[in-house]
Amino acid sequence: MSNHLGIDTRDPAEYLAALDRLRWDKLQKQIAYVFGNEDYYRLRFKEAGVDSPDDIRSLDDFRRLPAFLDKTLHRESQEQSLERYGHPYGLHLTAPLDKVIHVAATSGTTGQPTFYCFTRKDQEINNIILARMFKAAGIRPGDPTLHAFGLSLWLAGVTYVQALEAYGARPVAVGAEGGITKILRYIEYTRPVALFATPSLAQSLIERAPAEIGKEVAALGIRTLFCTGEPGVGIPAVRQKLEQAYGAKVYDATGGAWHNGTISCAESGYHGMHYMADDYCFRYDLVDPITKQPLELKDGATGEAIHTALEYQAAPAFRNATGDILKLHLGECPGCGQFGIRMEIVGRADDMLNVKGVKVYPSALQDIVSGFLPKVSGQLRIRLKAQPPRVEPPLNLAVEAAEGLPESEWEGLAGAIEQRSRDILALRPRVTILPFGALPRSSQKTKMIEIAG
Ligand SMILES: [Zn+2]
Repeated sequence: MSNHLGIDTRDPAEYLAALDRLRWDKLQKQIAYVFGNEDYYRLRFKEAGVDSPDDIRSLDDFRRLPAFLDKTLHRESQEQSLERYGHPYGLHLTAPLDKVIHVAATSGTTGQPTFYCFTRKDQEINNIILARMFKAAGIRPGDPTLHAFGLSLWLAGVTYVQALEAYGARPVAVGAEGGITKILRYIEYTRPVALFATPSLAQSLIERAPAEIGKEVAALGIRTLFCTGEPGVGIPAVRQKLEQAYGAKVYDATGGAWHNGTISCAESGYHGMHYMADDYCFRYDLVDPITKQPLELKDGATGEAIHTALEYQAAPAFRNATGDILKLHLGECPGCGQFGIRMEIVGRADDMLNVKGVKVYPSALQDIVSGFLPKVSGQLRIRLKAQPPRVEPPLNLAVEAAEGLPESEWEGLAGAIEQRSRDILALRPRVTILPFGALPRSSQKTKMIEIAG
């Protein structure tokens, strides 16, 4: 059986070769297209020693090029276009401005927005990719849905609502901005079978539903909980809580930016996210996070992801360094049996720790600790003596006990976490158990790393 790409082999090497052919066919046109952008991309090509699109003769040639864009360069490009042309969409805007019909944005920690532009064709392809994800999440045309992601400019906002409309799944777009009371009331009025919400919003709805609408969320008839924007669903305890409270299947998705699209399957356990856009996007062009040399793409390959959209018209990602460390899985999914590429987000390139040559990401340590719920609270800190990435062993890990866990069990718990980490990460940290409540909470993304002194 072939998947949505029409590739009908189950041999990993043949599958990758077919993907490479598909990518290279589209890439040749895209390389020529962005080379036409004299203000930005052509300059990047020249810096890399490429004088003509014809100099890039293969996918391997392409993969050896350095990154051409990242978050910082993106923002600089936007500032320069504002100065030079009076619009903020970047010198790397490759389409005429009047062909840009849709704009989304994210505002990171700096408060400066990063814009994502869509021509009509870009939006149509985006709708195709999101439709694949809606279908994978069991949503059918004609289904009622309720959208409660942030609407204001986010890629998961109006962009998603329009994709749901194009798919025919009647979104009621209350948005996260509507607030919990309004979201619950509109679920009551419109009876959606699928709810689009972050894991933390979905958890708040569980707590507030009895007081606000006089019933548990389980009574609302929601079959699909479609999550994005936060990692929560990958954590077994969070996922189980949501599944049980709603009586729904829970999906974890990413997508929207430059034709990226991934979604987890709802089978028991978590098997990473299925890649849904191989034909429109090369999102896992992995490089070594330190040397930046391309890595062989195979099952288990882990590295920093370079992202290139294959036929994007307006300000595309083209060798964009995402900073995400991805781990690839190639083959049959142990959950749903689908054959193809799955990926896990392992961490951020700038978070990597190097303990005597063992590379480890804070998120991997968090996964280990989360495996000990409900004996731990889930709060932890990695305590370093000096700036990362280099860490002199042992790696000190402070882990908070769950409320009410007797102190007599702490030593055994610490030993078990150390052993599990050794088995999975080949790294034995030194674990200290702290009483419940010892680590400060914050509504901000809590920094997992503390540096002494
Ligand atoms: Zn699966």
